[in-house]
This record gives sequence, C-alpha cells and structure tokens, in this order.
Amino acid sequence: MIQLKNSAQISAMKEAGRITGEALLVAREHIREGISTKELDTLIREYIERAGAKPSFLGYAGFPGSACISINDEVIHGIPSKKKILREGDIVKVDVGAFYNGFHGDSARTIPVGKVRDEASKLIEVTRNSFFAGAAMLKPGNRIGDVGSAIQACVEKEGFSVVRRYIGHGVGRELHEQPDVPNFGTAGRGVRLCAGMTLAIEPMVNTGSADVYELPDGWTVKTADKGLSAHYENTVALTSEGVIITTLVDKDW
Ligand code: MG
Ligand code: MG
Repeated sequence: MIQLKNSAQISAMKEAGRITGEALLVAREHIREGISTKELDTLIREYIERAGAKPSFLGYAGFPGSACISINDEVIHGIPSKKKILREGDIVKVDVGAFYNGFHGDSARTIPVGKVRDEASKLIEVTRNSFFAGAAMLKPGNRIGDVGSAIQACVEKEGFSVVRRYIGHGVGRELHEQPDVPNFGTAGRGVRLCAGMTLAIEPMVNTGSADVYELPDGWTVKTADKGLSAHYENTVALTSEGVIITTLVDKDW
C-alpha cells in the first residue's frame, strides 16, 4: 500500500532530507586520495548523530555501516572498510539515509577523487541529468512509467545502460515503501502519481552492460563486465504546489 503524506508529514520529511543531504556534503568535503571508506563512514555517522538523527542504514538488515560506499565498478551497497583506501581517479558512490522525527531521507551522490577519466566524469553527469529528467515527470496524473522511461532515454542516448536489478522506491516512515520506482519503463504505464507521494528516485548507470552481481559478502553489488557505475539519488515529495526535493541542499550538486 502507498502511504501518502500530509503537509505536516512532508515538513518532517524535509528535515530528515536536509540532514541526509548535509551528510553527503560532509562526504564530499572529506573525499580525497588516502582516506578509507571506514573513515568516511564514521564522519557521516557523527554528522547525522550530531544533528539529532539516526543513520537509517546502520543495522538495516544487518548492514554494518551508516553509509553505503561503493568504488568504481561497485554499483551500490559497498561496506565501509579500513582496507578500502581511495585513490586519485576513483569514482565513489556515497549513499546515505537519516531518520529524524519519524521519517527517513535517502540520497546518494557519485564523487570523483581528484582528476578522473573523461568517461567517468561524463557518466557522473549523465546519471545526475537522468535523475532530473525523471523528476521533471513528477506531476499528479502522470505515471511511474513516465519517470522511468525519461530516465532510461536520458541514459541510453549517451550510450550508457540503466541497472535493472535495483530500483527506486517509496520512502517515509519506512526506508523502503511502495511504490517501486524503476529507472526504466514505458511512458503512460504503472502507478498513477498523486500529491502526498514521497519517493526515492535513484538511477544507477553503467558504462557497459546493465548486468550486475552480488559479492559473497552479501551486500556489495558490482558490474558484471567491470565497467564503471554511477548513482544519483534524492528523496522527493509530490505536493499540490509542486515537487520538493528534500535531500537537495546544494542545488548544483
Ligand atoms: Mg539510497
Ligand atoms: Mg534508496
């Protein structure tokens, strides 16, 4: 069942979203060659806790970190580790959730470490653009398939591919709620959008094939062909006055 939110609940979600977005700014500020993903995770957890919130991912289905941190051909769900040290040229996906006043924010960015290859920076840009192409379809009366097909078209016209196995979702009191929000689909199909919906829209985009697999650690997802992957996610709220992107605290990022 889709849990629609009233305006007071959407206000609470804006607070959770702001803390989530600020935690990503902390990650961006500290990402450099030589830092471990565990150190980054600690900085993110400390920021969220100082804000009076709880890291949504910590302990979720047993996940040991406060952020999922995934490097290069890792797509999502990377486990923070002292042994994973960032190097110049890496691209790092940081995915964060903060739970505050009963609601979650959920957001991810792909951050370059120093100077990266042209293909990597193009992938990051196209992945971000695809989110906004999808978000532009968030109008009451449109359908989930309008969002997914806009994301897919934006990605595929650049020669990249959309991951199919993992998708966006409703978000609110629970980290994962209905409806499913695929990053692909057919315009005019699927659940009809309406005011009060709160969604995590999160294109995951590969340079090569869309195929992915999960490592034996039970979490980390990698591209099958070792190509690069990027991720861009925000929590959005549909209201009668328009769309609020709750986790977008730096509008240029
Ligand atoms: Mg996320
Ligand atoms: Mg999500």
